[in-house]
Amino acid sequence: MFLYNPAYLIFMIPALILMGITSWYVRHSYNKWSQVRAGSGLTGQQAAQRLIANGNLYGVQVQGTQGELSDHYDPRNKTLYLSGSVANSPSVASVAVAAHELGHAMQDAEEYFPLRFRAALVPVVNIGSNLGWILIMVGLVFLRSTSLGLNIAWLGVLFFAGGALFALATLPVELDASARAKQLLRQTNIIQTDEEQRGVNQVLNAAALTYVAGLVTAVLQLLYYVLLVGGGGRRRG
Ligand SMILES: [Zn+2]
Repeated sequence: MFLYNPAYLIFMIPALILMGITSWYVRHSYNKWSQVRAGSGLTGQQAAQRLIANGNLYGVQVQGTQGELSDHYDPRNKTLYLSGSVANSPSVASVAVAAHELGHAMQDAEEYFPLRFRAALVPVVNIGSNLGWILIMVGLVFLRSTSLGLNIAWLGVLFFAGGALFALATLPVELDASARAKQLLRQTNIIQTDEEQRGVNQVLNAAALTYVAGLVTAVLQLLYYVLLVGGGGRRRG
């Protein structure tokens, strides 16, 4: 099947390498700055509480969640979920992650447009990631690249384009949450020195790189399917 096509590997191996390097760099940065205490001595949980009070975000709850680097903000119940190591440790890495998630809570409170736009794409992406390649397979293999088959295959490609658009829409949302975090942590004295600021920047910039890697992967995947379906049309003509 075309998923095991060698051309697919040519597109996907660079993406896998990039994803591997960025996820290593995130862990490396997080572990390094987990050893350094934030000047205020506040844990991630306490930092989140200070930032909630500072931003008048009183509807926002803070709760624990299982797993490592599983921290996230859920706009549906206005809850900040912090992993155990972030919630309970007074490190530069912990307060950086907590403040980033709080940045998403602020975006939500302000009805920040890129956050709304990305949320609107979620159902498309959820359906599309399964349906996209099924449509391509039906169009190219079962309908043997007939003109109906090619139209169906291009519809599948459109779903992959939705995935790439989602990855693109994620970037401004994540960069903005990190920009807010970097500024707020210093303003509220949760971190106090340039060295701590450097740590916050490194942890958050490493996380941002994973979203760039996600975008590169989505674009490479889209490109592969464009060439595959385009090739189906040429073989037929
Ligand atoms: Zn985020």
